[in-house]
Amino acid sequence: GTARFPWLEGRARLTPAKTAVVEAGTGLRLTYAELHLRVNRLASWMQQQGIGPGDRIALLAPNSASYLELLFAAGKTGAVFVPLNYRFSHAELTYVLADCTPKLLVCYDRFAAAGERLSGLVPLILAQDEYQTVVEQGAQTYRPTEVDAEAAWAIIYTGGTTGQAKGVVLSHRAVLWNSINTVASWGLTEQEVTPVYLPMFHTGGLNALLMPVLYMGGTAVIGDQFDPPTVLQVLESERCTIALFVPTMHHMLIESTEFSDYKSATMHTFLSGGAPCPLHIYEAYRAKGLQFKEGYGLTEAGPNNFYIHPDLAQVKIGSVGLPMLHNEVRLVDGLGQDVAPGETGELLIRGQHVFSGYWNNQQATDEALQDGWLHTGDLGRRDADGYHYIVGRKKEMIITGGENVYPLEIEHILAAHPAVKEVVVIGVPHPKWGEVVTAVIVLQGGTTLTADELKLYGTEHLARYKVPKSYVFLDQLPMTPVGKIDKKQLTALCFATA
Ligand code: ATP
Repeated sequence: GTARFPWLEGRARLTPAKTAVVEAGTGLRLTYAELHLRVNRLASWMQQQGIGPGDRIALLAPNSASYLELLFAAGKTGAVFVPLNYRFSHAELTYVLADCTPKLLVCYDRFAAAGERLSGLVPLILAQDEYQTVVEQGAQTYRPTEVDAEAAWAIIYTGGTTGQAKGVVLSHRAVLWNSINTVASWGLTEQEVTPVYLPMFHTGGLNALLMPVLYMGGTAVIGDQFDPPTVLQVLESERCTIALFVPTMHHMLIESTEFSDYKSATMHTFLSGGAPCPLHIYEAYRAKGLQFKEGYGLTEAGPNNFYIHPDLAQVKIGSVGLPMLHNEVRLVDGLGQDVAPGETGELLIRGQHVFSGYWNNQQATDEALQDGWLHTGDLGRRDADGYHYIVGRKKEMIITGGENVYPLEIEHILAAHPAVKEVVVIGVPHPKWGEVVTAVIVLQGGTTLTADELKLYGTEHLARYKVPKSYVFLDQLPMTPVGKIDKKQLTALCFATA
């Protein structure tokens, strides 16, 4: 139905003096009352500029409170917030802006040069100091706007790990239900303090914990650069309680010298998500008595979908848990039939937290949303107790000599070899085998290992058809901006060297 979305006004009424947002880098601290005031000034200014329902407004900025201010101001005026991936190339940014045609671009100084080059694509650009003047001193002339629950609130462009970036349209309904579902299923309270180091132009930074925690009246501590000693210090000084990082960040944390002395009186959960989590990361947290678990998420649904109690995460290693309170999950085979426990199938999701469709892309929308179910393109299985495990991506499943091979299973095995620091398994096109199972390896510093030795190791643990036939050794893996391994680039590279 129609209402005055979003809920920040209610928060400013109920918990005005609580700290809503802290910027770890600049020291900016805003209570809910202050955040609400800044959002109202921004919404007023937007209305003065003729920005209203359905108009897109874009942001090019490092992680900062401005993401929240623009998101909420967009919500209050009926506009649609489009946070831009600042690591995108000029061509990628041009593509995104031409796709979503915003009326306004707020551009931070750090990205002024990029903003300048994009100026022809946006009628109005607001520089950082002008933006600050608006939120700090702007007039309050905001006229309340009724917004439909189904109206778009944000468009988040996905990482493009598997192709051209697509604009995921999130309605007020979807964003709100991700918060409701998360706080209800995970038991989040007003006491939560969460650090936000994942990029806020992605769902992991913007929606996974940030919105649910603020919805409950907790505090978000926004960080810009992921520097392990600083992060550990921020967790301590801000008395953080729950943190979500991608595996790459966890890896950096546990490798840092500061981690060996790290203790926490306040942190109750370390979460990993966004990509498969290597088992040694679980071990590193568990060895220190820290609660650690893995979540599964995607921009198109929430992102949050499962819940597992940290105690159980120590038993059901690698499981993402049970479907959340307001969420339905199915696992289906190629014919759309539900598979039995233990069998692998594509993960389908239904619930109020699911997206509305891809911006300007009906074909992709029709493929992803069928009969009200989101077809995630991810493969999973569940055990007899209903606990779910992510097996990999449907697109990344390798078919070699007619056999299905799941890269994740092989990655877990090879990663356990002491000389292996990182490993990715991909399928490289081959005339005879269809695809050849190929392992890309980064070795631990100071170690040597040949392809033959690793192959022998694989043979001890895996069926023969699963053992990689081809090995590529690299100094480091190509990464996407969110810290996921760039498999597109890897496949191209391995194809070229094959
Ligand atoms: P694109 O859809 O263009 O490839 P993307 O993959 O970066 O972009 P996101 O929504 O950011 O899109 O990421 C969601 C994907 O991340 C999921 O579909 C899944 O493949 C992967 N993922 C998330 N959590 C996990 C997890 N715990 N284990 C394995 N994979 C995960």
